Amino acid sequence: DGGFPTDYEIAKDAEKEPIKDVLEPWGIDNDDIELYGDYKAKLSHEGVDRLRDNAENKEGNLVLVTGMTPTPMGEGKTVTTVGLGQTLNHVGEDAMIAIREPSLGPVFGVKGGAAGGGYSQVLPMEDINLHFTGDLHALTSAHNLIAAMLDAKISQDDEFDVDINDVAWPRAMDMNERALRDIVVGLGGKSGGTPRESRFLLTAASELMAVLCLAEDLADLKERIARIIVAYDTDGEPITVDDVDATGPAAMLLKDAIKPNLVQTIEGTPAFVHGGPFANIAHGTNSLIADKTAFGMGDYLVTEAGFGSDLGAEKFMNIVCRLGDMTPNAVVLVSTVRALKYHGMGMWPADLEEVKEAGVDELEAGFANLDKHVRNLQKFGVPVVVALNRFPDDTDEEVQAVLDHCREDLGVRIAESNVFAEGSEGGVDLAENVVEAVDEGDEDEFDHLYPDDAPIKEKIETVATEVYGADGVNFTGGAEDDIERLNDLGFDDAPVCLSKTFHSLSDDPSKKGAPEGWELEVRELYPSAGAGFIVALTGDVLDMPGLPATPAAAGMDIDEDGNISGLF
Ligand code: ADP
Ligand code: MG
Repeated sequence: DGGFPTDYEIAKDAEKEPIKDVLEPWGIDNDDIELYGDYKAKLSHEGVDRLRDNAENKEGNLVLVTGMTPTPMGEGKTVTTVGLGQTLNHVGEDAMIAIREPSLGPVFGVKGGAAGGGYSQVLPMEDINLHFTGDLHALTSAHNLIAAMLDAKISQDDEFDVDINDVAWPRAMDMNERALRDIVVGLGGKSGGTPRESRFLLTAASELMAVLCLAEDLADLKERIARIIVAYDTDGEPITVDDVDATGPAAMLLKDAIKPNLVQTIEGTPAFVHGGPFANIAHGTNSLIADKTAFGMGDYLVTEAGFGSDLGAEKFMNIVCRLGDMTPNAVVLVSTVRALKYHGMGMWPADLEEVKEAGVDELEAGFANLDKHVRNLQKFGVPVVVALNRFPDDTDEEVQAVLDHCREDLGVRIAESNVFAEGSEGGVDLAENVVEAVDEGDEDEFDHLYPDDAPIKEKIETVATEVYGADGVNFTGGAEDDIERLNDLGFDDAPVCLSKTFHSLSDDPSKKGAPEGWELEVRELYPSAGAGFIVALTGDVLDMPGLPATPAAAGMDIDEDGNISGLF
């Protein structure tokens, strides 16, 4: 229609180089890679090891991209991550990018793909958003193999003393399927197994995904899989993946999934796209293997944490950097005019048409949310740069209001970012601010918000009060018993992964801005023993989303020549 081309149109018109040629200048030989067609590659174990060792010769600047509390459409963290990586290279730095692998749930649901957009994308976007190199499918299979082996033990092995009301391993699939959220398995009489309640979660929410993303190598992957707790026996003792003999075959199914994937951006710089854990019941960032390898390729690594900074960034700082021994050098906080208005209007559920109509008054009323995210991130001792991701409908007056507010009221760096519409040409101010922030920062200032040995309740209270803005925490339901069990099992030193809605800083999705005068309710806790953290469930968090009546999928098609449409 003569307007701005769609993401897929831009991707299709972009000239790609063979991935082996893209990687060669970055110290990766043909021997190091396993090609999946011309434009996708996995890095071999030897390649990973060599590049990880090479990290000592590099600056190792870690830049985390996070966001304010988003609208349901997303505010452009992936776009900004890809665009900033492209721009850093454009201004003469060596920068690598590492992002998560898309899940088919959101691709076909409301949000769409996760390969960036406009002139800040990773390519080939249709492959990356669909089956890619098969990692999500491998994880789904490995997850369900463990489930099948567990159920076979339950129904076939009389010695196996499992408490069928305390089975902790659900089924997984990579599709938004609300009808499978709560199910009964084992029907069909004697030969059907032992009837019990179970459920499906999205593959991105499987503990195996978290494990893959935190594992150092194949040996570590196996150790982590072995200790995943799948059930408890009638004495309350944990039963692990190893107890159901599934460690070896599950790890075998993941033999290629553990190798990091490399693709190129629309401007021909390499990017890792590897692993994709949820940022609520898991930690929400791409694999540590990809990060550590990237440090051996460039002087900067730009990586994205899922959802708002209260979820992804908090977990990156308190969990991933702790377990992976990393120090962030700068944080980029993505904000948008539309999200500021959405908070200013206190809107729930979101109506983006109405948000578009709003003006500067509504926008300014939404600053409370942005301010809280800025202040929270500053608590970690890492320099913050706000990126105002500009959308086509944003007026100059609105953009100026945000720039003025950040500079004058908050005293925080801010840059307007046009990487969606312009690629690296539109990210120069942002990239320069990031380089300056990194140079000004002091790695010794970085700190987690709580020490390893703080009691479990204290860790949760710290995140709830310092990050979410709660007055305190109520432990309800079985939470107290769960904490006792976690202490007995020796998990008291583990970091806590709080599962909370991403629609609000609070645990109530309808509350916008920076909610005050509320208490966080924690209703259940369990160990992610393979990952190495404790999960605390708050409010209603979906690990198996559903589709709306007319999902994004309904607008997708492929013609007889193989041209795709509607994928974004
Ligand atoms: P996040 O990673 O924060 O969830 P994405 O980067 O995936 O968000 O962006 C969400 C959606 O918004 C994508 O469809 C993306 O193409 C689109 N988008 C992002 N930034 C812009 C922009 N500046 N202008 C227009 N569309 C944008
Ligand atoms: Mg994203």
